[in-house]
Amino acid sequence: MDYDGQIIRPPSEAQSIILQVTVGCSHNKCTFCGAYKEKLFSIKNAATIKKDLNFAATFCARQKRIFLADGDALIVPFHRLEKLFVVIREKLPWVTRISLYASARSIRSKTEAELQRLKELGLDRVYLGLESGNDEILASVKKGETASTMIAAAEKIRTVGLFLSVTALLGLGQVILSEAHALDTSRVLNQMKPRQIGILTLMPLDNTELGQHVLQGDFILPTPEELLRELRLILYHLNCTTQIHANHASNYVPVTGRLPRDKAKLLHEIDEALHGNRKMVPEMLRSL
Ligand code: SF4
Repeated sequence: MDYDGQIIRPPSEAQSIILQVTVGCSHNKCTFCGAYKEKLFSIKNAATIKKDLNFAATFCARQKRIFLADGDALIVPFHRLEKLFVVIREKLPWVTRISLYASARSIRSKTEAELQRLKELGLDRVYLGLESGNDEILASVKKGETASTMIAAAEKIRTVGLFLSVTALLGLGQVILSEAHALDTSRVLNQMKPRQIGILTLMPLDNTELGQHVLQGDFILPTPEELLRELRLILYHLNCTTQIHANHASNYVPVTGRLPRDKAKLLHEIDEALHGNRKMVPEMLRSL
């Protein structure tokens, strides 16, 4: 397969065929994100994608899912996506699920009818990074969106009947906005009603603007205990029916479960760590 640079995919797409249809992220301004800093955004040419699909048709017959990389593949114009989805169906008829990363902007760029058409052609799962439900934090990390634009994007995805997975990032509000970050994030997630929520912990990278602020002492990261309290507060206030994946390698205490069914269990697991009865993941074992 033709992969330009580092390829990132959600943990739940580990078994998927990864087809890179764009290089980088069309936004690429978030101060905490180092994923695509070295990449200039572009849509890959049709011939390269076709070659990759021919390769997948020969060597990936056991993989039933396909994930379209990079950062926000939904930004590709509708007619190109529609054509691509038709070719995926023709060449990989055994593939049952197409997934991709989307931004609120890329969701806005498609009408409901267009999203519906992509769903008919196999689009199943959309991964959207909320990061925080707090507008002050979203502005400070240059996310380019607000809580209300995120809620509107989520509503559109749900209306069409697509599976929505949303991620939030512990620590993004520093110490000073930690509580506001947690409360606003659960409030916004309750309105977005995603089927799945991924909760990660901020790990500042030196190649990012935020990483530089940390090195200069201008961004104060909460302690592991404060980050756990943030996670606890988010989970405590969540009232939507959803799957929680707070077991990412960046988290100090990995927890996972279904809400509302497992809420008491998840809170108990966090309390155990806060009371010292459960070990936190050592710093050297955390990763992105
Ligand atoms: S966090 Fe998402 S939207 Fe922001 S720069 Fe990274 S890939 Fe792009």
